[in-house]
Amino acid sequence: MTTHDDRRARMVEQQIAARGITDPSVLEAMRAVPRHRFVPESRAQQAYEDAALPIGEEQTISQPCIVAAMIEAAELRQDARVLEIGTGSGYAAAVIGRIAMEVHSVERIGRLAEEAAERLREEGVRNVHVHHGDGTRGWPMEAPYDAILVAASAPHVPKALCSQLVPGGRIVMPLGDPDSPGGQALTRLTLVGPSSWDEKRIGSVRFVPLIGE
Ligand code: SAM
Repeated sequence: MTTHDDRRARMVEQQIAARGITDPSVLEAMRAVPRHRFVPESRAQQAYEDAALPIGEEQTISQPCIVAAMIEAAELRQDARVLEIGTGSGYAAAVIGRIAMEVHSVERIGRLAEEAAERLREEGVRNVHVHHGDGTRGWPMEAPYDAILVAASAPHVPKALCSQLVPGGRIVMPLGDPDSPGGQALTRLTLVGPSSWDEKRIGSVRFVPLIGE
């Protein structure tokens, strides 16, 4: 019988490593976090397919290879402190939490924030802190962060996020018109000097819109 563990190992090999993700810490974390526990029970059998899935409130858990690409682009070290905007199911936050020291994740929909926090508790994840709020303001109480990952799209990076990064810090975010049929450009911005950014385009993606200020 094929188990969730088998499906997850195959997902990492065929959808993630096969697409060029090489960072061993990302591959290990994707192998370890049980994605089927972060989707509605009725979707558990689809959890290791190459797809985003609905999680309620008209939101989705992102496609596994996109989660991996975003985390790899953020270049997280073991001592990193990370901000995620758009907790959704809590899955990406759990993956980040396996690699980094501390994660703060902000979700604007109260029910999703509560459910994600509960799920992370059940999974024994202790270094991920879920906050209910508008992530376009970041989470200044715990700033600065080594990396900020935004799991929703907008035409530009919210200003507040830029001021919550350490020098050399990275923002990984889908940039572009959220309604564009062509999707958005997954982009990494590295703060290389006061108000000076190095920009790298990672690929084309399609994300739900960032809603807020
Ligand atoms: N990272 C999530 C996961 O692993 O399940 C998937 C995130 S889903 C693609 C995008 C999430 O961003 C949604 O849950 C949505 O409610 C949230 N969102 C949109 N605008 C937001 C904002 N201003 N602040 C915080 N969360 C926001």
